[in-house]
Amino acid sequence: MGLLQDKLGKYRIPQMYMERGVYPYFREIDSAQDTEVMMDGRKVLMFGSNSYMGLTYDERIINAAIAATRKYGTGCAGSRLLNGTLDIHVKLEKELAEFVGKDEALCFSTGFTVNEGVIPQLVGRGDYIICDDRDHASIVDGRRLSFATQLKYKHNDMDALEKELQKCEPDAIKLIVVDSVFSMEGDLANLPEIVRLKKKYNATVYVDEAHGLGVFGRNGRGVCDHFGVTKDIDLIMGTFSKSLASIGGFVAADKDIINWLRHNARSYIFQASNTPAATAAAIEALHIFQEEPERQENLWKITNYALKSFREAGFEIGDTASPIIPLYVRDTDKTFEVTKLAFDEGVFINPVIPPACAPQDTLVRFALMATHTKEQVDFAIDKLIKCFKQLHILK
Ligand code: PMP
Repeated sequence: MGLLQDKLGKYRIPQMYMERGVYPYFREIDSAQDTEVMMDGRKVLMFGSNSYMGLTYDERIINAAIAATRKYGTGCAGSRLLNGTLDIHVKLEKELAEFVGKDEALCFSTGFTVNEGVIPQLVGRGDYIICDDRDHASIVDGRRLSFATQLKYKHNDMDALEKELQKCEPDAIKLIVVDSVFSMEGDLANLPEIVRLKKKYNATVYVDEAHGLGVFGRNGRGVCDHFGVTKDIDLIMGTFSKSLASIGGFVAADKDIINWLRHNARSYIFQASNTPAATAAAIEALHIFQEEPERQENLWKITNYALKSFREAGFEIGDTASPIIPLYVRDTDKTFEVTKLAFDEGVFINPVIPPACAPQDTLVRFALMATHTKEQVDFAIDKLIKCFKQLHILK
């Protein structure tokens, strides 16, 4: 065996949890991603999804994807720069730019490759990139790919952000990158304060609205819209894999920034363009956001109901202000165990352990969709109380 096999053969952590019967990953679903999914011949309530609008099995979106596949085929066989640009890619870019309130947008094949491809093109040697220490992995990778000086501040600590800004050369580009809704903890970035600091230190702000679109702002325009700070945010990115019921991502900004990225973001230029089906699905979902505001209202009704119920039952849920509800466990083994117990009771939730959180902050992530019912939430919370008590996480 080679050196690589020798080294990787020592990686036994997954097997350790498999042997204990609590390995929680890659569980197979053989139905649509809805509030109820089929797994191994039984129904499981889905509280581990990012489909906040509950649109992944919407008939209109399915039909749009089928029609696009019939017209354009199953793939584009090339990058946006060369043979891979369809009229529907451009249409979606125009609609997204208008939706989030920016001049122009670019659509990528995944949200991950937006952050990975865009961030390193915005800052170079002598510049600075400043991130919240809970930013998404794709932002971390984008940051690592840049040649700028990399700075981090403690989660949502605005004094700590200001201290980092004070370290920077005044004439260098200072790019602040944050998630608008933190994907595991469900709390919001303090965008009004970030904008104040941006102005004070002449910085640039990039906001990841992956979990904000659909959920916050007018007709789901996002957290920037919710706080009324869109014009002061330089770049807004989003994904299609959550509220938009598809896959793909975009970045929106003013004309000059987009013109630069269109010709320099490597995952835009060198990655094959998004499929016709995914693109048409995202366009249709975006229209539905605007035509059916009741989806967003339902999401908030059920979210507020669940937040209240979890609090009353004594769960530790941190500072969440969104449909992402972290149920803190603060122990990796117990996080896996409670995920498994809940699954056996018919409730799908996601374990969150390092590097997705700090070691002392392990949690299970309970996420809501606009289509969840009160009965489904009651059922899940009852089961979770039982499981958390069984493991003495809840008294
Ligand atoms: N940003 C954030 C905050 C995310 O949570 C995710 C996905 N979980 C991404 C970016 C990447 O998006 P996608 O999965 O659509 O590629």
